[in-house]
Amino acid sequence: MNNDVRACTIWMTGLSGAGKSTIASFLAPMLRERGCKVEVLDGDVVRTNLSKGLGFSKEDRDTNIRRIGFVCHLLTRNGVFAIAAAISPYKAVREENRHLIKNFVEVYVKASLEECIRRDVKGLYKKALAGEIKAFTGVSDPYEPPDHPEVICDTEKETPQESAEKIIQKLEELGYLPVDGKAAIAEENRRASETF
Ligand code: ADP
Repeated sequence: MNNDVRACTIWMTGLSGAGKSTIASFLAPMLRERGCKVEVLDGDVVRTNLSKGLGFSKEDRDTNIRRIGFVCHLLTRNGVFAIAAAISPYKAVREENRHLIKNFVEVYVKASLEECIRRDVKGLYKKALAGEIKAFTGVSDPYEPPDHPEVICDTEKETPQESAEKIIQKLEELGYLPVDGKAAIAEENRRASETF
């Protein structure tokens, strides 16, 4: 393991289909390549084990997010980078996790509802719009975007690779990862070429 790294929790929040799992699948190997231990807590997977039996009332959603937050807390304090990819619609519980975990980097994975409906990766929006799924986030249940996330990944404008790179850069800025010399030089060159 790389001793220059300082573990944190990368908390991705956003609508269903916004791109949380996809970005996590790009980010995790990038962190491993840098010598980090990484664990991904994907909302859909968690609901089949850790949170099995919970539903989608506000209370159950909050319980789900607190459980994921608690596991992230345990992992992070033991040197593991935890990536949470869960809708986590309520601001207050995300803030609870921020206070619990402390090394907490909130990433708003942003895509408009129209775009998520267009993508409809799991066919859930179609059902929600037809009234077959009750309390579906963005359609018939609230989503509270973060006010001051550390990173915003606009997945209608960026590729998953670009979003993951943006997160890595923020982790460097915040001192969780040492600055990648090669990447810094490339960025410097890119900026310099823009001025001509
Ligand atoms: P979530 O985990 O937020 O529910 P998913 O990652 O499961 O969302 O699905 C996002 C969908 O959007 C995928 O089909 C992915 O290929 C697509 N997509 C298109 N552009 C992007 C992007 N820039 N970042 C992430 N996902 C994207």
